[in-house]
Amino acid sequence: MKLNEGKVLIDGKWQDSSSGEILPSIDPSDGSQFGFIARGTSEDIKRAIQSAQKALDGKWGKIIPSERSRLLYNLSVLILENQDDLTEMEAQDVGKPISQARVDVKACARYFEFYSGAVDKIHGETIPFLEDYTVLTLREPHGVTGHIIPWNYPLQIIGRTIGGALTMGNCCVLKPGEEASKTALMLGELALQAGIPPGVFNIVPGLGVEAGEALINQSGVDHISFTGSTKVGKLVQKNAANNAVPVTLELGGKSPQIIFADADLHMAIPFLVNASIQNCGQTCSAASRVLIERPIYEYLVELLSKEFNKLQVGPAQRNLDCGPLINKKQKSRLEKYLKKAKSEGLNFAAEGKIVDDAPKGGNYVKPILIRDVPPDNVIAQEELFGPVMLTIPFEDEAEALNIANGTPYGLVSSVWTKDGSRQFQMAKKLKSGQVFINNYGAGGGVELPFGGVKLSGHGREKGFESLYGFSVTKTIAIKH
Ligand code: NAD
Repeated sequence: MKLNEGKVLIDGKWQDSSSGEILPSIDPSDGSQFGFIARGTSEDIKRAIQSAQKALDGKWGKIIPSERSRLLYNLSVLILENQDDLTEMEAQDVGKPISQARVDVKACARYFEFYSGAVDKIHGETIPFLEDYTVLTLREPHGVTGHIIPWNYPLQIIGRTIGGALTMGNCCVLKPGEEASKTALMLGELALQAGIPPGVFNIVPGLGVEAGEALINQSGVDHISFTGSTKVGKLVQKNAANNAVPVTLELGGKSPQIIFADADLHMAIPFLVNASIQNCGQTCSAASRVLIERPIYEYLVELLSKEFNKLQVGPAQRNLDCGPLINKKQKSRLEKYLKKAKSEGLNFAAEGKIVDDAPKGGNYVKPILIRDVPPDNVIAQEELFGPVMLTIPFEDEAEALNIANGTPYGLVSSVWTKDGSRQFQMAKKLKSGQVFINNYGAGGGVELPFGGVKLSGHGREKGFESLYGFSVTKTIAIKH
């Protein structure tokens, strides 16, 4: 399908950035340059915002809900029809194994399908008030919504954030992550083919400090949805305050999985491993802290070690357990954490292997299991963004909760136990936006509200909950 490489999408037209400059697209699997993207500027962002404002005043602003629904559904169908091209590009651009990229493409289609069905099902209310009044509420779009997303799950995150915003009738300006913007451009092309009017979905690739900051700082944006690191998220919220613009922050995590002695371990193991290594551990909801009740600690660590020793790492196209990390910077950041952990004498219990023919220029690291990690050690507190599992023993529920809640983050957690009463008690006491019982998987579940507490952010995307965030309530009070 058409890629529109090196272009920005403004007002339904693919055009050069005002800088005329490009940024290289690097293949994380071999380090080669395989293409480029536009280096969008503040001027491009300004034009994109203007085009979104124009679209709000045009056809899109007047479109009836059932027609808006049909356009979103068209897009979901087109995504599935083009899933091979999208999968190949997502795998190459992000460096993720091809089967994982395909899951992301399907999830992206499912977002637009789900939201197409929700368009005409979000209602206002009538409110009992004084005798001679009728009071009602309307749910209205914010207007222009700005969306900044990271490189690790471009398609899934576009589905959840742009899908929600368009459902409520907003017009969007998207700034994708500079390391992987290609599938965002492909989606922009499909949105036009689906019949979504020009200016409703604008895309300006580029640098965070340039195009990203411009999207926050310029006037004319009515709501910001930011997905990325906690460090940048704090800055985004601060800058957005200058224009008093509401912000949704979907930030980092350090998610725990708590395994009690009565858990079904054979059911748990694939979830535990996958939650640490999916997308080579570069997942906001990576559940890298595995808390294990003392009586089964040795046994489970042994089983997990066996699994880690079998893991294979190689190019995205080989479709192994892990691909490469996104870039050299991320690789050396992870290596520093691991070096420090080694120098402190932490116990590296198992590791996977990098296949012999993995290209030398790729950013490969071995998946690693580190056991008996003190809960306050820096590697158990900070987001590593690599395929690393940490095991930590605990004695009882109280200690498990203390450790699980004892980081600055609160995105996702899980509890593995057959005890129904304990399942609920733990779920209520865990400080995170989602809790999974006897399973784990933040990526799926388009229907399930998602978001963090503490430094993992605030606001919810996914599910119907997202639609409240992407709209404002207007109250109308009528005196008879
Ligand atoms: P990042 O914060 O460096 O970048 C995210 C986006 O912000 C990019 O598009 C970047 O260009 C832009 N940006 C950078 N500086 C900016 C600035 N000053 N103003 C405006 N925009 C700016 O994050 P990353 O490295 O791309 O992604 C990894 C992080 O994202 C991890 O912390 C991960 O946990 C988090 N993440 C969270 C979720 C979630 O749903 N909670 C999902 C995926 C990733």
